[in-house]
Amino acid sequence: MEDEDHNATDEERRFLEKLAVPPGLCATCEHLRLLASRRSVFVRCGLAAVDPRFPKYPPLPVRVCGGYKGV
Ligand code: SF4
Repeated sequence: MEDEDHNATDEERRFLEKLAVPPGLCATCEHLRLLASRRSVFVRCGLAAVDPRFPKYPPLPVRVCGGYKGV
């Protein structure tokens, strides 16, 4: 993974399933963005950039979300 903020690839979404704290709905949401480095990966909500109701870094796991849009 690159050290940059980007749309999640299918491979990265599969990687998320192995995290100690699974992201919940974000894992399969179109708005999922990942901020990744060699050591860490942060789940970011892309919807936060255009809608202040959504936190940029949502507390995980997300179980209910009005912005969820499945991929
Ligand atoms: S809209 Fe909700 S489910 Fe989708 S990435 Fe943002 S916080 Fe996660």
